[in-house]
Amino acid sequence: MAATSMDQLVSLCKRRGFIFQNADIYGGQQGVYDYGPLGVELKNNLKNAWWRAMVYERDDVEGLDAAILTNRKVLKYSGHEDTFSDPMCDCRKCKGRFRADHITDGKCPNCGSTDLTEPRPFNLMFKTQVGPVESDENLAYLRPETAQAIFTQFKNVVDATSRKLPFGIAQIGKSFRNEITPRNFIFRVREFEQAELEYFVLPGEDEKYHELWKEARINWWLEQGLVKEHMNIYTTPHDDLAHYAKACYDIEYQFPHGMEELEGIANRRDYDLGNHTKAQEEFDLEAHCHANPDSTTKLCIRDEENGKWVIPFVIEPSMGVDRGVLAVLTEAYTEEDLGEGNSRIVLKLKKHLAPIKVAIIPLKKNSEAIMQKCHELKNKLMKLGIGRVALENTGNIGKAYRRHDEVGTPLCLTVDFETLENTPESVTIRDRDTMQQQRVNTADLPSFLREYFL
Ligand code: ATP
Repeated sequence: MAATSMDQLVSLCKRRGFIFQNADIYGGQQGVYDYGPLGVELKNNLKNAWWRAMVYERDDVEGLDAAILTNRKVLKYSGHEDTFSDPMCDCRKCKGRFRADHITDGKCPNCGSTDLTEPRPFNLMFKTQVGPVESDENLAYLRPETAQAIFTQFKNVVDATSRKLPFGIAQIGKSFRNEITPRNFIFRVREFEQAELEYFVLPGEDEKYHELWKEARINWWLEQGLVKEHMNIYTTPHDDLAHYAKACYDIEYQFPHGMEELEGIANRRDYDLGNHTKAQEEFDLEAHCHANPDSTTKLCIRDEENGKWVIPFVIEPSMGVDRGVLAVLTEAYTEEDLGEGNSRIVLKLKKHLAPIKVAIIPLKKNSEAIMQKCHELKNKLMKLGIGRVALENTGNIGKAYRRHDEVGTPLCLTVDFETLENTPESVTIRDRDTMQQQRVNTADLPSFLREYFL
């Protein structure tokens, strides 16, 4: 089977209502996308799978949902105001603007001209104003990563939960970066979602936990359906590390446009907690911290072994939710030859990710008795807690199967005349991947579906 192309995915996503270009009717806003009826389900399912693995299935992680609007001081002391920029060049001929590291042989990637400016830093953060008066005092940012609020709320969370090291704080939410060249569909966008865990450990134990989290995160991606052969672990060379990092692994995935970063797993040392801490000189900080006359708080915790106050180190698995959606779509997209000139597109998503879990399909839409039974079943099954149950009323069973194959619905349930006539009452269940059908008594459906999905 040929590798999935970006065009195939973009077309499927629009056609079936997964992802649309933002402001499409006005020609579109670059680097911004909207998730449609099925996209929102898929994205929520991926986020729920992350939350379940990171919070519910562990006993050392708390959750947080912090604000997007970020006080300037937070991003000043985090180092983002000074360093969160990409060097970029302008092309004097076509007026395009490009990241310096995207330029090869000194030529403009758009028009080929060599008349380019020297690289200049371009800050990636979106600025805004809080309150009615425009002034430096009122400047705020849309957060460029969710992590900072986890650091600034560290003490509050510790005080509220009495956590001891090691423990983590997890958060999922929107982040914003004014990317110079957004591209490759939802891979590089200006508004995106991150799922980040900050896992706090004793200094000295950081390298051990960095390795553990690398393994845990690779395994999680395998559970989402990605295959090992399409993944790569990239160790960031020392010179390329972000300003806060001691070390970083990238989990890369073979996207349609190439092997690129899906998730970063950074060892952020005590850099952030240290920089946001009052009177840092009282601590033996490994990170180079800037004096912080503005903070009111020491972001520290007591070392249980020796009773001393320490600023923990932090390991950060940070996944891009949109890149995750793109990866699972890429992996799942399959074109199958069914022989005799027939083929089908089937989205082989893991069942917990599928936007629609069960489609109820009437054999005939103009049979009142069949339709009534379909509605009855829908009302019963939608309350099982397995996720979305859809009722099809197109009346063309072949088309309904194709449509649900394309959007990855694991089970199609057909109500036919036998359903009404037989005792006990039964329906046909068709499996998306094998296309095999079996008859199941309607009385057994709740337990059958619960066992299948939960
Ligand atoms: P890149 O090198 O691709 O610009 P990054 O190293 O700057 O990414 P991080 O700051 O480590 O990214 O952010 C953590 C995760 O957030 C990334 O692994 C990625 O999945 C996601 N992410 C970052 N920037 C974007 C973006 N512009 N669009 C979509 N997802 C993004």
